[in-house]
Amino acid sequence: MDKLIHGLAADATVRVMAAITTDTVREAVRRHNTSPTASVALGRVITGTLLLGSSLKEFDRLTVKIESKGSVEGIVAEAVADGKVRGYIKNPLADLPQKPDGGFDVSGIVGKGMFFVIRESGFDIGLHRKPYIGSVPIETGEIAEDFAFYLMKSEQIPSAVLLGTLLQREDPFVHCAGGVMIQMLPTANPNVAVMIEDTILHAPKLTDAIRDGAGAEDLLKMTLGVIDYEILGEKQVRFECNCSFERAVQLITSLGRAEVASILEEDKGAAMTCGFCNNVYTLTEDDLRKILESETA
Ligand code: ZN
Repeated sequence: MDKLIHGLAADATVRVMAAITTDTVREAVRRHNTSPTASVALGRVITGTLLLGSSLKEFDRLTVKIESKGSVEGIVAEAVADGKVRGYIKNPLADLPQKPDGGFDVSGIVGKGMFFVIRESGFDIGLHRKPYIGSVPIETGEIAEDFAFYLMKSEQIPSAVLLGTLLQREDPFVHCAGGVMIQMLPTANPNVAVMIEDTILHAPKLTDAIRDGAGAEDLLKMTLGVIDYEILGEKQVRFECNCSFERAVQLITSLGRAEVASILEEDKGAAMTCGFCNNVYTLTEDDLRKILESETA
């Protein structure tokens, strides 16, 4: 069961969050049929988005969007308060040979571009307040550094971000995934940052620890060393999309009567694929006729 925790450390001067996202990333990879390198990239973005959104409130939505000139073209992940996350990669087949050290060349497929964070509230109950949008250029394209760079440049929060997705040859393709995010509040003692940096430097590799059974709290301990912390919240996380047949019908309806009539005439039906989860919704001739008969079309 995937889990996301968040809390405070060093006398409430440091915000901490950690997550195990193995099943979530597995589901994303299964749905989008991603290449090995694209799987690692998507897994990191999904995990980072969950961490960044660890204290989302009801009706909040957090979107991380990468627009890149690299072969991935773009990566999007969207998290809501109850632990649901969905995401996709524009070119799921983007891939490069593994690096000599066995790592995946994520920065090679991401390349240059922009990293956006969009925070919205109340979207689902019709309260369309202006979203907050922050953006920075892509720093390294390795994703974790890009989250840290964004936090520093756009929100003035010095942070440490570790994101990992470990693949294996046999099914399931994603062996494990998870991450840690440490955010220094303005009141934090600079020595604490130095201590955390040093602890991380000497800690086992994140994905090795998760592979060996580390849970979310173990990842925090690995990062904080002797620094005291307190966990303030915990939730289950999962890949889940909010698309539905009804929404597909709404979307087709919104095209207008003439367009729906022409789809009925020429295509005898419509198939719509949700970009976020790859579900396909098929509207039959009867479904299209019903739309034309309804008042709203
Ligand atoms: Zn969907």
